[in-house]
Amino acid sequence: MRSSDIEELKTSVIKEVEACYRQLRQLSQKIHSNPEPGFQEVKAAAWLTHYLEENGFSIERGICGLPTAFRGSYGEGKPAIALMAEYDALPKLGHACGHNLIAGSAVGGAVASKPAINRFGGSILVIGTPAEELYGGKAIMAEQGAFDNLDVAMMVHPGVHDAATTQALACISLDVEFLGRAAHAAANPEAGINALEAMLQSFAAINSLRQHIKNKARIHGIITDGGEAANIVPAHSAGTFIVRAEDDAYLDELKERVLNCFIGAATATGARLEYRWGKVRYAPLRNNLTLARLFQKNMKSLGRKVLFSDPSKAFGSTDMGNVSQIVPSIHPNVAIASKEITTHSPEFAAAAASEAGIKGMLDAAKALAMTVVDLVANPEIVAKIKQEFGSK
Ligand SMILES: [Zn+2]
Ligand SMILES: [Zn+2]
Repeated sequence: MRSSDIEELKTSVIKEVEACYRQLRQLSQKIHSNPEPGFQEVKAAAWLTHYLEENGFSIERGICGLPTAFRGSYGEGKPAIALMAEYDALPKLGHACGHNLIAGSAVGGAVASKPAINRFGGSILVIGTPAEELYGGKAIMAEQGAFDNLDVAMMVHPGVHDAATTQALACISLDVEFLGRAAHAAANPEAGINALEAMLQSFAAINSLRQHIKNKARIHGIITDGGEAANIVPAHSAGTFIVRAEDDAYLDELKERVLNCFIGAATATGARLEYRWGKVRYAPLRNNLTLARLFQKNMKSLGRKVLFSDPSKAFGSTDMGNVSQIVPSIHPNVAIASKEITTHSPEFAAAAASEAGIKGMLDAAKALAMTVVDLVANPEIVAKIKQEFGSK
């Protein structure tokens, strides 16, 4: 394969994205103005699958027992390259994480990749993964084998920097309750067992613990029940917490130390502790560097200054982490807003519907499709990506 042929094919996939400009813009705007939180993304899933179907993709809806998950595929066999679509919104804030643009870039990138698949074979898939924000849809789908037969998985998340790799932490939630005994807070305080004090002591213990944990670990929480009235010793308190760490081993260690904070508070106050760890655990994100370099080069060719890693060193968690443990993956960022703006804010929600947002979505779709060209045209690159990942 001559490199001039590859360049020619890249030019044609870029043109494909441009030809779909109006439809992609409309699709992402429609999802933006109809925000649906996790597992309620009925409209978004219907619009996206309809678009793919119109463009010759075969569709399976409701995969993994999740009504708003789907798989669209075009072509056959290997390499099987998947673009991940997210389309859930945040409660009250709407598309403040810009998942409407992730959806647009995934379907746009996949449809534009068709000439490359027609020429070299292989398959391009769009996997619709619901509820990234609230329930870790991809973690649930990963357990059911949704990503097992893929060679590569890619998605682009909107942000405030152009960066080829992302840092995301392992993460799990914890629901806690203390059960005490109610009593008149003035007349008979000695008869009460104060469940709120147990919760406050837990916060104090966690604050102490926080001084002595590794740099990137995070523990944060809120009180969801702190009692009924000031003149009643609280018989019940409840809170929800999130524990995050750079790797799974340290998350396991932290889980135990965090739990000990609550056990200590229960012992000190006499309140009984009940707790439940979250069903879904987000795995840390493994960036495939070979794949990230390929994407970076393609994104740079569109005139963006793409850094290899995010200069802000900001990190959260994403269920793409769980995918990245199974299949070589990338989760780069495309800038759609200025650096002062943070995701999960009303300002970012506005950016996700702005011209800069649409431009970011189209560039992401182009760079994804160009990377698909590289992958299907060069089996040795796929082999190198797999070698880095550690699979055959
Ligand atoms: Zn988010
Ligand atoms: Zn997000």
